[in-house]
Amino acid sequence: MLRITELKLPLDHPDEALRDAIIQRLGIRDEQLISFNLFKRSYDARKKNSELLFIYTIDLEASNEAELLLKFADDRNIGVAPDVTYKYVGQAPANLEQRPIVVGFGPCGIFAGLLLAQMGFKPIILERGKEVRQRTKDTWGLWRKSVLNPESNVQFGEGGAGTFSDGKLYSQIKDPQHHGRKVLEEFVKAGAPDEILYINKPHIGTFRLTGMVEQMRQDMIAMGAEVRFQEKVSDLLIDDGQVTGVVLESGEQLHSRHVVLALGHSARDTFRMLHAKGVFMEAKPFSVGFRIEHPQTLIDKARLGKYAGHPKLGAADYKLVYHAKNGRSVYSFCMCPGGTVVAATSEPGRVVTNGMSQYSRNERNANSGIVVGIDPERDYPGGPLAGIELQERLEA
Ligand SMILES: Cc1cc2nc3c(=O)[nH]c(=O)nc-3n(C[C@H](O)[C@H](O)[C@H](O)COP(=O)(O)OP(=O)(O)OC[C@H]3O[C@@H](n4cnc5c(N)ncnc54)[C@H](O)[C@@H]3O)c2cc1C
Repeated sequence: MLRITELKLPLDHPDEALRDAIIQRLGIRDEQLISFNLFKRSYDARKKNSELLFIYTIDLEASNEAELLLKFADDRNIGVAPDVTYKYVGQAPANLEQRPIVVGFGPCGIFAGLLLAQMGFKPIILERGKEVRQRTKDTWGLWRKSVLNPESNVQFGEGGAGTFSDGKLYSQIKDPQHHGRKVLEEFVKAGAPDEILYINKPHIGTFRLTGMVEQMRQDMIAMGAEVRFQEKVSDLLIDDGQVTGVVLESGEQLHSRHVVLALGHSARDTFRMLHAKGVFMEAKPFSVGFRIEHPQTLIDKARLGKYAGHPKLGAADYKLVYHAKNGRSVYSFCMCPGGTVVAATSEPGRVVTNGMSQYSRNERNANSGIVVGIDPERDYPGGPLAGIELQERLEA
């Protein structure tokens, strides 16, 4: 398999033009190109006032790959395609004695559960909130009727904190082993559009996410997993420094020496319980701020110039950073093109905002978090839970 990068074509090119461009770039005959696959598509918006081009990365099979590798040995845009297939770390033994427990069914718990299930470990997954359809009703209850359910809301329930979101599927972490690819492939299996595999900044939007989350749950159950909702873990069983199980709020005990705590960001009661039990924890830097909105047409014009509103580009995004003289950095975060600002608290008496959108991103406004990085040494000294106390004061 070969890879070509930086293959550029005009925005309005017909679909067939891609095959022609590959053949031309490699200087081969049509029958020598066996197959090709779009690995990535992006565009460079800095050239918005001249010609805006799509930039492709293509993986392909050709009948004369060895010959092509020699021919393009000095061309950094043509080479062997990396192996992006996911490698499992192991398989469950035939005589599996204890099923692992996963606490939380957000992205972390879903993927921990899914991979364990795919490796044959039949995990038990415990989620304090409700299944996604019931949870959706409770979340709209807050938005429409100002009624908060502290156990079923934007943060808690099937799918975790990002279920009602823009469904942005990219991050800035380095991913040399292509683990992100596995995530995207699983999402496509669960009903996400194929394009998330190749467009530069893929997103899914709230409506599709809810259906995908349900599908992933059903697939896990078919592989032997058990998913239990409205089951809050209220205590850990620890014997001689080794976890041996969990206690549910109902009083039921589940025993396992393998417990994944996929608790997310908002389960402050559970963090406090873990700290009291002596589980190791440390304070980390994070960012705080507010949400800002602009008309989407203003952002489109600023980012895409004469291409604003082009159907192949959709609503434009932006990213801003400011490095202040005092050493702090302020930056835009989780920018939602064509989206909505939503109330996102899980606790009474507090205000938290976040952004969400639908797949079409066709709401009137763009919104973005504007945040400043803060850290334990300067801003919240006083132990692992001091950052949570600061958040609670700000939210109140
Ligand atoms: C409105 C909104 C929009 C967002 N948009 C994006 C986006 O577009 N792209 C993006 O990458 N990120 C987005 N995020 C952030 C993203 O949702 C989080 O980074 C992600 O959900 C973290 O995953 P997680 O599994 O670690 O935790 P969570 O998603 O928080 O999941 C943790 C789960 O654990 C459960 N739980 C907690 N304590 C217990 C307990 N004691 N017992 C049982 N269950 C428990 C919770 O109910 C929850 O369902 C958004 C977040 C919000 C709120």
